[in-house]
Amino acid sequence: MATLTYEDRIGSIVFNRLDCLRNEYAKNDCTLCQEVCAHDAFGFREGKLRLLPSCVQCGACVGVCPTHALRLEGATIETLVERLISSESRSFTCKDLFPCFGALNFWDWAVLVLEAKEVVCDVSHCASCKHNRENAVEKHLSKAIDEVNRLMQVLGQEARIRCEVHPNVKPVKRVWFEKLITSKSTMPSPDSLWVFKQKMKAYLESAVWIRSEDFSFIHPKAVTITCDNCKECVRFCPTHALSYDTTQTKILFQTGQCIGCNICETVCAKKAIDTPEVTVDIASFAFERAEVLIAHDLRVCDTCRCAFSYKGGDMICERCASFEKEHAEMFVLASQSR
Ligand code: SF4
Ligand code: SF4
Ligand code: SF4
Repeated sequence: MATLTYEDRIGSIVFNRLDCLRNEYAKNDCTLCQEVCAHDAFGFREGKLRLLPSCVQCGACVGVCPTHALRLEGATIETLVERLISSESRSFTCKDLFPCFGALNFWDWAVLVLEAKEVVCDVSHCASCKHNRENAVEKHLSKAIDEVNRLMQVLGQEARIRCEVHPNVKPVKRVWFEKLITSKSTMPSPDSLWVFKQKMKAYLESAVWIRSEDFSFIHPKAVTITCDNCKECVRFCPTHALSYDTTQTKILFQTGQCIGCNICETVCAKKAIDTPEVTVDIASFAFERAEVLIAHDLRVCDTCRCAFSYKGGDMICERCASFEKEHAEMFVLASQSR
């Protein structure tokens, strides 16, 4: 009997369809993997995003996916750290240790530099690479590296990532697949975000504040008084960054869990949730501390006897109030006809 699977697999590239934002919520407009793929290997079938046979396993898309729906089997951050530390120059290229720099995400770079202290990224092959269509991979790479270096500065670390271009490099065969893919690890690898958080927990002795507009991994949330406690944002949040307390009256938010997909903002009919620019303590991010976004005062509506978020005034819920308003004229006409 065939086993039901939600994964598309082309060689070492695995796409878990259930983790993709497009498949999680149909109105989400994430196109990051499609933008970076030079081989048009993502397409829709029956309304669902799929990995297509045109995938050449370059790995360029893996690092851009915010939900880790894409992975490169056999590659672990520990292996890369080990190999980098054992190389004297702390330098690596896509022709040696890794298939494509695009396979690394922001957290991979952060862990690499925290462990190796100095990382030299040899990008000599990028300009002529067929996987780097319209410099999409290089743009992703330089954004991540720039941000990681700024983060190291804020953390008071001297560790940095540096990119180098060597003129007149000769095209060479990629040896990464033979070195790493063929010796597949069956051990689950902790993801780099988790490793980063553990390192920060051990390292941070006091609060380190960063401005959310300076770092793309921080997505603070705020909820306005127009929130009517419908719970849609919590139901749709793919990472459980939003949740309710046990009394079901407070919306809690963990910035350390939020990936900034904006599904919560899209589903909120009241437009009550948004992403403000604020300063955030990195410790709160690392410890996944929860904050209260809004606390509702639940009362029973005098008309329908259902619980509603009381904002002052008459003890009537919004639905009943708007029903009465809409039908006020009809009620007057009915009373006059008696
Ligand atoms: S980048 Fe990830 S979440 Fe976004 S569409 Fe691609 S697979 Fe889905
Ligand atoms: S923020 Fe919006 S979606 Fe979330 S509970 Fe309030 S009204 Fe509903
Ligand atoms: S809180 Fe909103 S933006 Fe953050 S992961 Fe949840 S749905 Fe996405």
